Amino acid sequence: MSFHLAPQADLERGITTLGGRRLVFHCHHYNVFLQRTIEDALQERAPRLLVAAGMEASRSMLQGREGEAQSGSAARVLQRAADTFAAQGFGRVDVRQLGEGGGQATLDHSHYAVGWVSRWGKRPAPGCFFAAGFLAGAVAVAYRLAPERVTSREVECVAAGDERCSFRVEVW
Ligand SMILES: [Zn+2]
Repeated sequence: MSFHLAPQADLERGITTLGGRRLVFHCHHYNVFLQRTIEDALQERAPRLLVAAGMEASRSMLQGREGEAQSGSAARVLQRAADTFAAQGFGRVDVRQLGEGGGQATLDHSHYAVGWVSRWGKRPAPGCFFAAGFLAGAVAVAYRLAPERVTSREVECVAAGDERCSFRVEVW
């Protein structure tokens, strides 16, 4: 079976899927407003929830996509995940420093960072929670790890005034 980067549109049922998971398309206005609503409500508990939600949604989708692919090496799985992330408009992530033990990743043109700054200006702390979760999900899928073994957090963020967004993925 071939590997498709593009989502699959089912015009009969009016749904679009990627890796067997349904997609919903939103602009940065919607996404950063939703994120801000969750952060305002949950305060310090919000980052953990947002990263976990991003990880689970991404892990499920990427697992489904790898079921369609001739998987190959873990590095190829990670690169396909990065290409998928970029194709969906979330930014270009460099995953070459990620491995079975985790590692560092950098993100250029982050959808959430650019969206946040354009809507509300700088924020006091990193804000690309979905990207952090996506990277954790990608590492879990690439190395066939139980999701609870992988954590990810953003250590630098354009939305917080840093030059780039960067992430630390850890495997326990
Ligand atoms: Zn960021």
